[in-house]
Amino acid sequence: MIDPTLEYALEQDKSDVLAGFRDCFYIPCVNDTPSVYLCGNSLGLMPKQTREYVEQELEDWQKLGVEGHLHARTPWLPYHEFLSPSMAEVVGAMPSEVVVMNSLTVNLHLMMVSFYRPSGKRNKILLDYSPFPSDRYAVASQLRFHGYNPDSNLIELAPAAGSDYVSLESIQKILDEQGDEIALVLIGGVNYYTGQAYDIAAITHMCHASGCLVGFDLAHAAGNLLLSLHDDGPDFACWCTYKYLNSGPGSLSACFIHERHHGRSDLPRFEGWWGHDKQRRFLMEDRFMPIHTAEAWQLSNPPILSMAAIRSSLDLFAKAGMPALREKSVRLTGFLLRLLQELGEDTCRVITPLNVLERGCQVSIQMRRPDKRLFEFLSGEGVIADWREPDVIRVAPVPLYNTFEDVWRFYLIFRKGIETISA
Ligand SMILES: *Cc1c(COP(=O)(O)O)cnc(C)c1O
Repeated sequence: MIDPTLEYALEQDKSDVLAGFRDCFYIPCVNDTPSVYLCGNSLGLMPKQTREYVEQELEDWQKLGVEGHLHARTPWLPYHEFLSPSMAEVVGAMPSEVVVMNSLTVNLHLMMVSFYRPSGKRNKILLDYSPFPSDRYAVASQLRFHGYNPDSNLIELAPAAGSDYVSLESIQKILDEQGDEIALVLIGGVNYYTGQAYDIAAITHMCHASGCLVGFDLAHAAGNLLLSLHDDGPDFACWCTYKYLNSGPGSLSACFIHERHHGRSDLPRFEGWWGHDKQRRFLMEDRFMPIHTAEAWQLSNPPILSMAAIRSSLDLFAKAGMPALREKSVRLTGFLLRLLQELGEDTCRVITPLNVLERGCQVSIQMRRPDKRLFEFLSGEGVIADWREPDVIRVAPVPLYNTFEDVWRFYLIFRKGIETISA
């Protein structure tokens, strides 16, 4: 039983096996008081140890110069390989299926080069409901690049009338009606706006049954949900590492390419020297010989400083473990939803699915009488959250560093804000 009280919150924090991880992070202050930071879905907080990880690379660069490629304490030449096993663990993939490279939108484009292969009548792309703008721009420009018009060839999912929620049935209906015209389906693991988590296994199965390839943008799912990409079997996935994965502003993205596509010579790909056979890379040969893993999609030698921040963060994820994080996350959002009930349906309404299997950390709250002053009140009182025009506040209690007390403090400040503004 969830009790909507401070006592309940404090009790949960006291028995929290992950409680020690909060101390591994810097919590930003507002008015000299630690904020209620609920924006981990937008930019994760800085792990204290990240400074050491980055400094190690700066020192090795200082002392070794180019020799650091082979002789740095964590050699730069294979640096991305040190990230693959723990990143693979976070998303339920095999290390050979995962590679850290580029930024997210770049990777979406690279994946579409390989997996959006329009031919004949099968030339459309089916995109998530209310997708993140960058994904829409990327998809529309890929369609135009292949000579198609996004107005007719880009299909967007939509919730049923009167609902906020995209059902599996509605996806199946589109596939039944137009499946033979759809080349690629691209969906978010968690919708950035509503917080709805999609069933990756079911959607992948449905799309493949209709002959469509399917990829997932996991920007809001990686480090948030328990994923099993290899078993679920989508063709590809990409995600950034600066949201739930706490690797710093603009840090690199990661890609999953299912093993069934490795080593395929019939699959087009944009190529660069970092995707070339590692034994032969420095022979500087003319003919490209791809690595037989997801690494074949790499273009350039990667930025080590950004990768050092990812290594620091992944070490924390490996210690905490996704199953324990997910378990706490479900309880944290459960507590938040229980508290929001106290405010009543005519104040605000949660548009995130209530079913735990269909949500992650994020809860999207729609205000009945939207007033931006409420958001300003929250900010002034030390709540760092996110306001989406016209009327949605997104809050994401993150199990690595947020507490039940944070959720309680948010509720008190939110309630006070609503009372103050309507007074
Ligand atoms: C955060 C986010 C992005 C950001 O793209 P970048 O290329 O990292 O700037 C793109 N898509 C989705 C779904 C996101 O949530």
